[in-house]
Amino acid sequence: MADALPPLREVVARYGLDAKRSLGQNFLFDLNLTARIARAAGPFDDTTIVEIGPGPGGLTRALLEQGARVIAVERDPRCLPALAEIAAYYPGRLTIIEGDALEMDVAALVRSYAPVVPDAREMSDRESSAKSDSAVAMDSRSGLRPVGNDSRRSARICANLPYNVATALLTKWIAAEPWPSVFDRYVLMFQREVALRIVATPKERADYGRLAVLCGWRTKARILFDVSPAAFTPPPKVTSSVIELTPNPKPLHCDPRALARVTQAAFGQRRKMLRQSLKSLGVDASALLAAAGIDETKRAEEIDVAGFVALANALSAQ
Ligand code: SAM
Repeated sequence: MADALPPLREVVARYGLDAKRSLGQNFLFDLNLTARIARAAGPFDDTTIVEIGPGPGGLTRALLEQGARVIAVERDPRCLPALAEIAAYYPGRLTIIEGDALEMDVAALVRSYAPVVPDAREMSDRESSAKSDSAVAMDSRSGLRPVGNDSRRSARICANLPYNVATALLTKWIAAEPWPSVFDRYVLMFQREVALRIVATPKERADYGRLAVLCGWRTKARILFDVSPAAFTPPPKVTSSVIELTPNPKPLHCDPRALARVTQAAFGQRRKMLRQSLKSLGVDASALLAAAGIDETKRAEEIDVAGFVALANALSAQ
């Protein structure tokens, strides 16, 4: 292995990685904290981590240090040389993808770059020999073998997300089809205010909304710990939280697009009764509520996830 990696602050200075607000750049240099986040995403075993926004690579280093294989998606080309140094230090364990994570199918990245999980019970002799033959087809940057399906891959997303696109990314991942996806867990840093909106139930009325319904439908979400603004460079104005979302393998059946429509209509006018707010769907709101078995005088914040699923299914049936 090459000499130890240089300190992050030195790397940031060397490559001129001044934080850009437009890219939600708040970097972590505290090694104890990056190690703590990485531990929350472990254990790694045969799991590939997809990291969104590695930046200069603080969390990436911690993940690799703890034994993960990482596919890192970074939009800022200025960060690529710093990430290439890390890839050279951990040969074959870090794949760097330049681009906008919002435009990417992250499950497809796993199919392309994560190895299949070795499983002696499943792997036939024929497959084993094909696997060793395939060394010639390895990806030149990562050393990982591009492969075709994800049924025997294990993957997880771990990221200190860029705040300006964090909820858009999460919504995209949780609404993705098919479900469950290849990811067995999501360990993500958000602004605390957003984290509270993700884990809220109807009991926390002010925070309960579209995000909580979507995440509550397909995952079990919990806040792991808070992170003070002082931990970041530059410090954001607010406290952050690391959350964990564990996919529910069998969520109640419903079309995510219908769920998005009913929650948008209901929470768009959250102080109004549902018989009024759901009119914006352009349907007979009273009939929809009756079909879903919901009292039409209720307000959005009084309806639990199962209620919204019933409404979405009633909408789909129209
Ligand atoms: N992981 C690093 C850390 O913890 O120090 C940086 C985290 S910083 C909050 C967010 C990172 O996401 C930045 O490196 C930024 O350039 C990157 N980023 C912003 N928008 C992105 C996008 N749409 N796709 C991929 N990366 C993005």
